[in-house]
Parts: sequence; structure tokens; C-alpha cells
Amino acid sequence: MPVPLLDVNAQNHPLHDGFTAAFERVFKTGHFIMGEEIAGFEREVQPLTGASHALSVSSGTDAILLALMALEVGPGDEVLCPAFTFFATAGCVSRVGATPIFVDVLPDTFNIDIADARAKVTSKTKAIIPVHLFGQCANMEAVMEFANEHLLHVIEDAAQAIGASRHGTLAGSIGHFGCYSFFPSKNLGGLGDGGLLVTNDGDLALRAKSLRNHGMEPKYYHSHIGGNFRMDALQAAFLRVKLPHYAGYTKQRQVNAAFYQEQLSKLPGTAFSSQPADAKLLLPYCEEGNQHIWNQFTLRVPGGRRDALKQHLLDLKIGCEIYYPVTLDQQACFAHLPESSLRGCEVSHQLAEEVLSIPIYSELTESQKTEVVAAIAAFLN
Ligand SMILES: *Cc1c(COP(=O)(O)O)cnc(C)c1O
Repeated sequence: MPVPLLDVNAQNHPLHDGFTAAFERVFKTGHFIMGEEIAGFEREVQPLTGASHALSVSSGTDAILLALMALEVGPGDEVLCPAFTFFATAGCVSRVGATPIFVDVLPDTFNIDIADARAKVTSKTKAIIPVHLFGQCANMEAVMEFANEHLLHVIEDAAQAIGASRHGTLAGSIGHFGCYSFFPSKNLGGLGDGGLLVTNDGDLALRAKSLRNHGMEPKYYHSHIGGNFRMDALQAAFLRVKLPHYAGYTKQRQVNAAFYQEQLSKLPGTAFSSQPADAKLLLPYCEEGNQHIWNQFTLRVPGGRRDALKQHLLDLKIGCEIYYPVTLDQQACFAHLPESSLRGCEVSHQLAEEVLSIPIYSELTESQKTEVVAAIAAFLN
């Protein structure tokens, strides 16, 4: 039986009637921009963020962009962000005219290494963007201590981590801003693009709210230059259909991850990532105090055998993907940046050679999961 890396409609089809009703509701009112659906969604999603102000936006990328704009990050400023993440994290920094400075990540959690951030902070550094990669929180105690020492703004890129927590505090609610994505492959996936920006700071919330709609206040009067970063009312209505099921989706991903961890760790040659790396296959693990929501279940295959495992799984019709094959400091679009932006990301480079993500989505069946484990066992033999 083929096992896709992700099957978004396995989750959406059972909610077909709910989506149809949501469409009819919005269609009848004709309120396609802002209005009650947006207000309702923002109210209902807020508890998943733990922050006091939640603003729906057009995408996760736009949430990061809007956060940088609201904090007035711009030309001459440097922003620290991990080298091993999705492009949007750093792309937004360049789009506001600031300079991304790439920070290495930790090999066990894939998250930002604050020791390396300490080596790269300068008098120009204005902000840091920790990413909660693959659904697990970065070490936010270390991030906040470092940021407070250097008076940096903190923008949490929680695009892959809505509902994840660390020592009981939800991802996105710790820094000045938290950013989330509802891209269909994220844990709370919409029927198209969408995102969310949150903050506990009332003034920042007001500024971001104004910038979301061209800095227009009142109508046709512009004191600031913003953009159109609004979420569609239809998208908000669709996401409201999925929200009540979200805790169940997360639970199922955690069940799947626990199954893989138990089954794969029994195979000879495997170890958890934090252990000495003489193993043939390193398994992802959840750091003490973290609630991991497993947007990805990402293996490390040392010894140059990653591509062979990928091909082996694809031959058996098991979906898998390399997140991410090229680190940000090695992207062509950043090649013009000064050496100080690009140096010292060796762990990120190694991960780009070793990582492979396998199917983890909520609707995987027992037999699909068993098939994935059997395929990996055959490869290791
Ligand atoms: C998906 C993602 C984004 C961007 O979100 P979009 O909604 O696709 O714009 C940003 N950062 C990370 C880490 C992501 O995974």
C-alpha cells in the first residue's frame, strides 16, 4: 500500500459538510473581507497561542513581515535567524531592507544555537527570530535571556508549531510577536494560504492591526505605510471548522511519533539524536519540558547514506522529503551578503546532508506506520 508523505484530504473529507455550511454562511452575507468570520476565528484560535492579541493575516510569511514592519526593523539593522529553516524566516528580513545574520542550529533539536548567536551579535543587531522547527519549541529561556541582555526584539517563527509548548508556555506567546501559518501542510492546515500574528503587547497589536490594512486610519488617511495582509473571510470560516478537531489531530501525531520512536529504536544501528553518533540512523526526540506537535518526523542518516534511504523508501512508494536540502546561508539569493552573515553554520550544513522526513500526518493507519518501519528495517539490514 502506498504511504504518501502527507494526505491533506484524508483530514478534510470528513469535514466536507462543515466546509459547505461555512461557505454557504459567508456566501449569503456577502462579507468576504474582515467582519464576523475574522473576529470569530481570531477569538477561537487565541487559546492555541496563549497570547492576548491574535491577528489573522494572509500567510505565515506575511505574519513575519508584518512583525518586522511593526517593530520598525529596516535598513542598517541586523536580524539573527537560524540557517536551517524554511526560506520565509530570512526572506522577510531582506524584504524590509535589513540584513539577515545566519546562526547555526543544535544537531539534536534542529533549533537555534544561542551560543552561536552570542558569537554573531553586534551593535547593529535589532532582532532575533527563533524558529520552532518541525513542531518543537526552541530553547526560549536561552533566547529571552540573550535577547534581554542585548535589548533585541524577539519574533517567534511558530509556523510549524501552533499549540506546541515549553514548560507549559505556548509557542508564539513568549517573544514580542509570534507568527503562525495555516498553509495546508502545517498542523492546522487551511484550504489555501493563511497565517496569524500574536502579541501580548497592546501597542504593538494596534500598530500591526493598522499595518495589516495599509496603515489606514481612518479610511483613506495613511499615517504609516502598511500593506494588504488580510485573511479572507472564507478562509477564516473554513479554519473555524477545523479548530474544534485540532487537539485530536495533535494527539494522533504524537501517537504516531511515539510508535516510530518505540519501533525504530528497537532496530540495530539506531539511536536517539542526542546520543553519540556512531549509529546508522538517528531518531528525533522531544526535549525535556517540551510538548512536541510533530509537524515533521525527521530522521538523520549519517555516513552519506541519506539519499540511498530516500530512494529505497520512494521505490517502496513511501513518501519522504528532505527538509531542508540547502541551508539559507548557501542560497544563491543571499550570496551577496557580507561574510559576517554567512560564516559558521557547519551543523546546519551537516543536517542538510543527513535529514529525511517520513510520513507523520494524523490520519496514518496502523498498517501504513508498520509498513514505514518495515521499510526502514529492511534498509538497515
Ligand atoms: C511555512 C513556514 C513559513 C511560511 O508560512 P506560509 O504560510 O507558507 O507563508 C515560515 N516559516 C516556517 C518555518 C515555515 O515552515
